[in-house]
Amino acid sequence: MNESLPVLALNGVTRRYPEGDGFLEILRGADGMLWPGQAVALVAPSGAGKSTLLHIAGLLERPDGGVVAIDGEVASELDDRARTALRRDKIGFVYQFHHLLPEFTALENVMTPQLIAGLSKHEARERAYELLDYLGLGARANHRPSELSGGEQQRVAIARAVANAPALLLADEPTGNLDPQTAEKVFSALMTLVRATGLAAVIATHNLELAARMDRRWTLRNGLLVELE
Ligand code: ADP
Ligand code: MG
Repeated sequence: MNESLPVLALNGVTRRYPEGDGFLEILRGADGMLWPGQAVALVAPSGAGKSTLLHIAGLLERPDGGVVAIDGEVASELDDRARTALRRDKIGFVYQFHHLLPEFTALENVMTPQLIAGLSKHEARERAYELLDYLGLGARANHRPSELSGGEQQRVAIARAVANAPALLLADEPTGNLDPQTAEKVFSALMTLVRATGLAAVIATHNLELAARMDRRWTLRNGLLVELE
């Protein structure tokens, strides 16, 4: 990680979807920068384009225009293979629904991305256990997702997202399906990780109380990213 470079830089990002005879303009030139160790809340009404922005920042979707750079690497200048490698090495993604593999245990779910990245089974297991333990799930490591509570499932999903020590964590309403108390637990786990690792995080949320506890707040207004305060 290069401290002088933003982990995430968005420059003039545009995205539109065909609608009827014309287009629905979701992003109209979004600019934003995020540095190591910063957590930014992305707070905007439903339909404003939060998921679209996160998918573009996460290299899951290509913008129609503009530049996305991850840790100084301009994604649009890369071929598909390099882009996939950049995403795998630098970015972790957490969705509103956990998307854990149902037939695997929590431990195996956290091991999987590490095995794909080339770590040995032994190394992957050690790191997975360490992460789960850190997130208060040591005793749940050998349970399958169906045997875990919603909050536990989300914490496993967070452990999986950071298993390969990404520079950037993107979370799309990660506590949106949880009751307030459980949401608090999951959010605390997320912030502990950010604080402990120097990770940068963008967390879309409708929870203003949680947003207030992050370092910065972004909203989307008319397709532009606006810094609040
Ligand atoms: P948010 O996450 O803030 O609720 P989204 O980024 O999911 O917003 O969506 C923004 C807008 O773009 C919505 O009006 C949505 O219906 C529209 N949209 C999102 N994805 C597509 C798509 N693949 N095709 C057409 N419209 C889409
Ligand atoms: Mg969304």
